[in-house]
Amino acid sequence: MPHAPIPPPPSTDAAHHGLRSDIDWAAVAQELHGLNLITTPRQRRQLSRDFYWYSPILTEQLADCTADLVVRPSTEAEVRRIAAVAARHRLPLTVRGGGTGNYGQCVPLVGGLVLDTTEMLRVLDIQSGRCTVQAGARLHDIELAVRETGQALRMWPSTWRVATVAGFIAGGFGGVGSTTHGVLRDSGNLLRCRVVTVEDPPQLIELHGDEIQQVHHAYGTNGIITEVELALSPAVDWVHVIALFPRYRQVLDCAQACGGGAVHCFLLSAVDARFAPYYAPLAAHFPHDASRHALFAMVAPDSLAAFGEQVAAHGGQVSLSMSEPELEAAALPPAYECAYNHTTLQVLKSDRGYSYLQVAYPQPFEPALVERQMARWEAHCPGEVWQHQEFARMHGADATFGLVLVRWRGAERMYELVADIEADGCTIFDPHALTIEDGGMKTIDGAQIAFKRRADPLGLMNPGKTRGWTPAMARTAEDA
Ligand SMILES: Cc1cc2nc3c(=O)[nH]c(=O)nc-3n(C[C@H](O)[C@H](O)[C@H](O)COP(=O)(O)OP(=O)(O)OC[C@H]3O[C@@H](n4cnc5c(N)ncnc54)[C@H](O)[C@@H]3O)c2cc1C
Repeated sequence: MPHAPIPPPPSTDAAHHGLRSDIDWAAVAQELHGLNLITTPRQRRQLSRDFYWYSPILTEQLADCTADLVVRPSTEAEVRRIAAVAARHRLPLTVRGGGTGNYGQCVPLVGGLVLDTTEMLRVLDIQSGRCTVQAGARLHDIELAVRETGQALRMWPSTWRVATVAGFIAGGFGGVGSTTHGVLRDSGNLLRCRVVTVEDPPQLIELHGDEIQQVHHAYGTNGIITEVELALSPAVDWVHVIALFPRYRQVLDCAQACGGGAVHCFLLSAVDARFAPYYAPLAAHFPHDASRHALFAMVAPDSLAAFGEQVAAHGGQVSLSMSEPELEAAALPPAYECAYNHTTLQVLKSDRGYSYLQVAYPQPFEPALVERQMARWEAHCPGEVWQHQEFARMHGADATFGLVLVRWRGAERMYELVADIEADGCTIFDPHALTIEDGGMKTIDGAQIAFKRRADPLGLMNPGKTRGWTPAMARTAEDA
């Protein structure tokens, strides 16, 4: 069976990326004296990792990538000092937030300096409809602060207890809340950010509104985000609901009927029955005999009746309906930890024999397509692919994304499956690829590269993560 082109392995050689490898690290450390420097090999190694281990391909490729030095600033002034030192010494510089990215986004391919932002954690200001925070503030901490004012974040990744706001902007896409508010790229969600350039002396650039697209999902290749202003919405005490259905098609139909604002939901996540045994604490609500498929949802209290009507109309039954404090008291996980890439995580925690693919379906979404794919795969490769779809909004329209679990049978088989899914008109956001372009974006973003010329004129930032910077990197997988 033909397979899609497998992205070539990355080069971990500094010279390949136009960078020096003869760096005098003792002199660098001296110039950074007084800052919070991390030098022990074990910590450097730990702070050079993210969740790339979801991919056996990346696990092999990134095993030896380790920072030479890690620095943890707590103010923008310290970031500027670090940026100037990086420019003077021509240091490869990789910014790291919580390190929860899935594709080795913050892994320093050629070593060098890792700038860890997690001490830049202050919530600076909260106003009606907006808040300003330092880049390394964790999203859950920001939520706790803004909740005090009756407001809430519009969206966050299911990793929000660890993930930082700038990591979400530079590495993420959307997440819990995207059912209501669309994705990060949608106008009005990101209001302003401050970016420090890597040159000597560093400049400070303020980006407003849609200008932020220049650094959004750019994997920290074009400037160091130091401060972010986010839009807020009125807080809702979401009810976490599980509804069970005998057939997967019913889950998809129900989620589609509830989406697009028809029912006020913050999360709508369809999960294949085969995941159930991995959701141990939920045995009473998502049966471990894999007899029922599940819809995990976060529903506004005043929409519970409408949600229940849709569930019943599609042949399902609500098996759990609790507020977050009630879930906590019952030691049950919130719905969002059963959704997005937490669904994959539940399985991988106990069985590393799986990996996954990210799928964007043609719009308008047709549940029949997933039903056909399920039937095809169950006929030819039973048990190899388990279904999981997220129902969101993007650019003002409904958007459905799959994070399908795949039994690992080697890279060739994974890319056969990619070709198979693409033949159905779907787009793969490849979680086994290291560059922005081979992952989700598919083409080099000229605006982001133009901004890189301004914010990282020496090409030091996160080398090897964009195909847009050097001619060697610009070659496509087919050329390689
Ligand atoms: C279980 C699980 C669930 C997930 N769910 C979601 C989800 O729902 N939605 C989603 O979008 N993602 C999701 N992710 C991916 C990831 O958790 C999020 O994108 C998260 O927001 C990344 O934040 P972080 O602080 O961990 O970033 P990191 O992983 O530390 O960094 C991500 C990227 O941002 C860059 N970066 C970090 N800080 C800065 C800065 N200050 N300036 C410039 N660049 C910077 C880094 O260089 C890197 O390229 C999930 C991952 C896992 C493991």
